[in-house]
Amino acid sequence: MRKPLIAGNWKMYKNNVEAMELVRELVPLVTELQDVEVAVCPPFTALADISRLARELDSAVSLGAQDVYPEEEGAFTGEISPAMLKSLGVAYVIAGHSERREIIGENDEFVAAKVRAVLDSGMTPILCVGETLQEREAGEASAKVQGQLEADLAGAGESEVAGMVIAYEPIWAIGTGKTATPADAQDMCSFIRSWITSTYGDEAAASLRILYGGSVKPDNASELMSMEDVDGALVGGASLKAPDFAAIANFKQDT
Ligand code: PEP
Repeated sequence: MRKPLIAGNWKMYKNNVEAMELVRELVPLVTELQDVEVAVCPPFTALADISRLARELDSAVSLGAQDVYPEEEGAFTGEISPAMLKSLGVAYVIAGHSERREIIGENDEFVAAKVRAVLDSGMTPILCVGETLQEREAGEASAKVQGQLEADLAGAGESEVAGMVIAYEPIWAIGTGKTATPADAQDMCSFIRSWITSTYGDEAAASLRILYGGSVKPDNASELMSMEDVDGALVGGASLKAPDFAAIANFKQDT
């Protein structure tokens, strides 16, 4: 049984004080949740305080980081290492988010190095894959996603893949208010799982969690989450408001 994961990607929003307020508001709203894991991925600047606060509140909310630099340490001005994140209690690290691929120019080789570094440090990568609107309209969505999986997971073994999280995030749905239909989300998540089966075997495919991301909101979450191969959501905009994010995490109440 895969435990659904609802992860909030706060992007470059919330200073440290605002981030703490958001966590204080969120924790009581998700405390009673059974069988759903909730994670927040704040900016680097808030990780240490949120980690402390979550412990103080005895919260089950997991901590994630939005990025990492794939080196242990060294002269990499401005970058953050896996060990630095690990020491703060970070459990998840997003790798290959489309905003980093498109705006910062990260390529698959770099994303693969991040996945490898996160695994080596004992944290769990949330690997983001997804196609542009143009690729979808040209019928190239699956090929694009498969190419990303092949490249980004190149250095990972079967048991490592089994514990990973993959987020299918169609780029045209991120921050646009356009959500993939539940059927489209299911089709691609099922495609991803089949590819994992043929590449890493049944066990890895059965335990790997596949999230959908792209304008997930309280009113569309439960339908998306009811799809067989959708094991949760990576949530951007709606994770910045505690009641909305909590309503998404409570998707089982609507089913
Ligand atoms: C994201 O940033 O990963 C995301 C899915 O954003 P949004 O929910 O705002 O579309």
